[in-house]
Amino acid sequence: MTDPRLILLACALILLAGGLLLLRRARRLHEQTGLPQGRVIYADTGAWNRCEKPLFSRRYLLTGRPDYLVDDGGATIPVEVKSTPSPPSPYRSHVLQLAAYCLLVEEEYGRGPPPYGIIKYRDQTYAVEYTAQLRDQLLSALAEMRQDLDADDVAPSHAHPNRCRSCGYREECEERLA
Ligand code: SF4
Repeated sequence: MTDPRLILLACALILLAGGLLLLRRARRLHEQTGLPQGRVIYADTGAWNRCEKPLFSRRYLLTGRPDYLVDDGGATIPVEVKSTPSPPSPYRSHVLQLAAYCLLVEEEYGRGPPPYGIIKYRDQTYAVEYTAQLRDQLLSALAEMRQDLDADDVAPSHAHPNRCRSCGYREECEERLA
């Protein structure tokens, strides 16, 4: 008959191996993505082979999917990953996108506003402080966008021909820059 202590030892070894495997996988994910240290609680990336439910705010009628949410122990930090090389400083549109995720986190998780969010470009990572001023800028931008939805003619919000080159509305858009 098998010694029960051997069975217990085998179970403990299997659990230990499983734990080490999970730890290694988490470390690899943090290295590959530049995520801050903490527990990944949400991931919207093909690497994870699943699509999380989008975050939603009824109050601001806003929805979105950050690439990751990381629980750093005190706050829920949104992370946006861009495949392009880093500009000298993050584009305003990227900062506002991240601010929108911060607002959604604030609404969905009830832990207060996250102190910052992260934009990770191919070669550089920026921690962007989620200040009251940035929050106000976001709310103004959302109000402007809602007004533009009702307007007949809207000027482009950028001066980047490259964005027009890859835009799905390029053929019909009379304001295209390329
Ligand atoms: S083609 Fe028109 S809609 Fe598309 S990015 Fe350029 S200006 Fe904007």
